[in-house]
Amino acid sequence: MIAMAGFMSAIMAVVLLFMRRHYPPSIRGVGAWAVAPLLWLASTVLFGARDFIPAWLSLVLANQLLVLGSLVYYMGTRHFLGQSFDWRFWGWVMAGSTTVFVVLTYWFPNYGLRVGFFTVLMGCIYTAQLRFMLRHGEHSFPVRLVQVVLALHTLILAVRLFSILIGKGGSDLMEPSLFQTLYIGAYVLMVLMLSIGAVLMATDRLRTELEHLATHDSLTNTLNRRALLAHCEEELERAQRYGHGLSIMMVDLDNFKAVNDTRGHQHGDAVLVHFADCTRQVLRRADRLGRYGGEEFLVLLPDSDADAAMAVAQRIHATLATGHALDCQVSIGLTSWTGAHDTLDAMLSRADAALYRAKHEGRNRTVVASEPVQTPRAAQAGSAQTVACD
Ligand code: GH3
Ligand code: MG
Ligand code: MG
Repeated sequence: MIAMAGFMSAIMAVVLLFMRRHYPPSIRGVGAWAVAPLLWLASTVLFGARDFIPAWLSLVLANQLLVLGSLVYYMGTRHFLGQSFDWRFWGWVMAGSTTVFVVLTYWFPNYGLRVGFFTVLMGCIYTAQLRFMLRHGEHSFPVRLVQVVLALHTLILAVRLFSILIGKGGSDLMEPSLFQTLYIGAYVLMVLMLSIGAVLMATDRLRTELEHLATHDSLTNTLNRRALLAHCEEELERAQRYGHGLSIMMVDLDNFKAVNDTRGHQHGDAVLVHFADCTRQVLRRADRLGRYGGEEFLVLLPDSDADAAMAVAQRIHATLATGHALDCQVSIGLTSWTGAHDTLDAMLSRADAALYRAKHEGRNRTVVASEPVQTPRAAQAGSAQTVACD
């Protein structure tokens, strides 16, 4: 079983090293996760060679490599979740525990005490990591898996400590007793499951990052057109099924070309980012903001009628008029779902026409398109309600 643990450590280290090389550097901690099984492998080799090498290698160093591997794994987890690792504290723990192992190997050779101490030390490391992950970890399957593995292994360590306290700890690691077999079996599984957990956590993060890249605009971090329209379609289906209202707003920055021309393209970019940040803050959680194209944005407001949407539009105008250097003015075309016959294309056309009308009437205002129109732009939003923002 110890040989199997070594074999698994080697394979998992190769897998994690491969991921470290090919995954984006934004996914932190994978390097440490790859080093951990290598340290466990080295420890396993030393344990396995105990008949041929001195005790300071097969006992002291082997145990400390196991401890170090667990600490490095913990470091990887902290880095992965965006936290630093306090090597100063754990360094002292390593130095102190090395001293204890040396004393319990050479001065007071006592198998029970040594195993008891090692069990408590490992239990502390796993508990610290479990506590950290429960506080900072996401609610994803891979994170939950690692939490369960850590909890189970801590439990096994507690059982092992109990077995030592009741005098059933045995007198040698290789003794084929029930508790030893249980402990070594759990260790083999833990090595495998922690490495698999690391692979799954990194892969899950990569998937999330790629998904974000595929659905978001890189400048403003709002949804891109494709993702936004998919949300609109979904919401329209929901509206048709359950009869909830829904509104959309087309928002266009006023005279933006002049901003670019007078202040430069980079300043224009900063204005777009500022607009997106401010607008996001006045929206509810369920609302969606997306970049429809250039300096034109679309806001999806589920479960909102025209009055509720108008209140949001007013908040957008207000949040962009606070005297900030990047403030801008916007024109908004607003439309609400009119019933089962309504389609997304028709809603977009109405919002577009209402926006056109807002521009036509002097900009910096919101126009509500209250009636379906046949052709965008040209129809100029048939009957409309205008609210100027001065
Ligand atoms: P209106 O009030 O009628 O909307 O006038 P406008 O100047 O805002 O509209 P126009 O369509 O004439 O110009 C839009 C400008 O937006 C032109 C384009 O260069 C600029 N633009 C589009 N995308 C970006 C971008 O990502 N960054 C910057 N800085 N400018 C952009
Ligand atoms: Mg514009
Ligand atoms: Mg435009």
